[in-house]
Amino acid sequence: MKQTQIITTVYEYDSIEELSQEDQLLVNSAKEAAHRSYAPYSKFNVGAALQLGNGEIIQGNNQENSAYPSGLCAERVAIFYANAQYPDIPVKAIAITARSNGSFSESPIPPCGSCRQVLLETEDRYKQPIKVILYGENRIRIVENIKQLMPLYFDKDMLDE
Ligand SMILES: [Zn+2]
Repeated sequence: MKQTQIITTVYEYDSIEELSQEDQLLVNSAKEAAHRSYAPYSKFNVGAALQLGNGEIIQGNNQENSAYPSGLCAERVAIFYANAQYPDIPVKAIAITARSNGSFSESPIPPCGSCRQVLLETEDRYKQPIKVILYGENRIRIVENIKQLMPLYFDKDMLDE
């Protein structure tokens, strides 16, 4: 038996002012998107914003449904829209925010497992890392790519083994 460790590097910031101008813009775009989410059931309004390689910013927000599994997370709404509209343009970064009871979450909001898998596919598809900015009012976390959020990930290479 051998024990190994998988290390994730997370950059933490106390406020949005500590981020680069570009990252601040992306976070603010994600916050704006959260206001337009359709979340009558969870009342948890998530906003995501993607920065594309061509400078475009794509927004997404959660879209719920009375048949719960038919809804979709903010991150995948944004990613699938970006891939549908700009299939040749890589995604460089994503910012994720969430609000409930009238205010944004204090803790950074991480993507769910399914969204991580889709983000991983997008990272592999364009062969470029996607920076992930997890926004919270009291703390912001940044990781440099999706694999940092997904140790022991499954990807297309395993289909060929
Ligand atoms: Zn998700």
